Amino acid sequence: MTVYIGEAEWLCEDCGIEAGLSEEDSYPDCGETDCPENCARCHRPLEYSLTGEGVTYVMEHLDHEVAKWNLSPSKAMGEWKAVHDCYKGTWYEGSPWIVIMRDWAEELGNYGLDDADEHVVEMFLTLTLCAVKD
Ligand SMILES: [Zn+2]
Repeated sequence: MTVYIGEAEWLCEDCGIEAGLSEEDSYPDCGETDCPENCARCHRPLEYSLTGEGVTYVMEHLDHEVAKWNLSPSKAMGEWKAVHDCYKGTWYEGSPWIVIMRDWAEELGNYGLDDADEHVVEMFLTLTLCAVKD
């Protein structure tokens, strides 16, 4: 997946071309990053590989969501199912908010996590599945 850099932000191929960026601004992927990358315009997930710091960043977010569920499953589920207007006209339009983080979590499968982290990822994906099913 070709990506573009425009004004110090990553853009997907479609948005990069639309913004009139040239081939000189294009790359095969986002390379190593400290957090998951989405297109700055349409929020489509881009191809990237996380640094150790990036894996920690995502794990902290998943830990946080699992902790939320432990505290109050119904409250967590309500938040996860929420569809936010700010994603109107983007890749995630009409999707429950948690879908974005599920995309991050699914990516982590490729990073050789330790057992404890793997367990958190599995828990997160299982718990949040109900929020995205219907
Ligand atoms: Zn885009």
